[in-house]
Amino acid sequence: ALVYLNGEFQSLSEARIPVLDRGFIFGDGIYEVIPVYGRKMFRAKQHMARLFRSLDAIGIPNPHSEENWMALIQKVMDAHPSDDQMVYLQVTRGVAKRAHAFPKEVTPTVFIMTNPLVLPSAQVRADGVACVTMEDRRWLHCEIKSISLLGNVLAAQHAAESGVTESIQFRDGWLTEGSSSNVWVVKNGVIMGPPKDHLILEGIRYGLLQELCEQHGIPFESRKITQEEVFAADELMISSATKEILPVVRLDAQTIGNGAPGPIYQQLYAAYQAAKHA
Ligand code: PMP
Repeated sequence: ALVYLNGEFQSLSEARIPVLDRGFIFGDGIYEVIPVYGRKMFRAKQHMARLFRSLDAIGIPNPHSEENWMALIQKVMDAHPSDDQMVYLQVTRGVAKRAHAFPKEVTPTVFIMTNPLVLPSAQVRADGVACVTMEDRRWLHCEIKSISLLGNVLAAQHAAESGVTESIQFRDGWLTEGSSSNVWVVKNGVIMGPPKDHLILEGIRYGLLQELCEQHGIPFESRKITQEEVFAADELMISSATKEILPVVRLDAQTIGNGAPGPIYQQLYAAYQAAKHA
């Protein structure tokens, strides 16, 4: 397996960055995670568009054209033995003397690696997963896919220490998102997700689920959702590149719906699998 770092393809153990990289010093960078099925990136266009939005949002000049990005990723993918992979790519502002404001002349650091894509097992999907609630104490630019992930790390650690899959976060009583996933509430046949604003990362699965709902005649709404509505859901789900869609059947000490994956989940999961292989 090879990684790409600043123009070179090399092994992960050889790859080095200077300690003054602003990714290391300030968390000054952005990233992407792209799922690969059968050696093909899934929703590549949407992931590229989000990468470009992230770079734009923090004023890092895009170091590559979309074509170039795709070619670099392809080369890293080709060197990996797995057919199903998760591509991780990261761009930081680059290496410069430590000072907070943007340095004048600096070259972005570009890193691409890939790993086998390990999806939730059939057993996990059949049983559903448990989550815990927590107050969302992250910053107010959650729409940027920033590598500064301390808030998400603490939320994930809270879930790990609670022995569950994810933390589901709320800001002042309103649902935001999981530690590394978007959250979906089903009530009376309608699937709802929080608005796409600065309080959540718009997952690539956000648009995908919306499309799948349209195709299958499932009513879909983006709107603010209270904590009470989450607990009272008929079905609850989380989505991400590496989890696809997972049913949440327990939240804190409470059972969600009837405690088993529901019909909308089953329908969306099947539609997701069909879209992957289309
Ligand atoms: N929100 C957060 C905070 C995340 O880390 C992720 C996963 N990267 C998502 C949502 C879901 O995004 P995607 O569907 O693109 O994986």
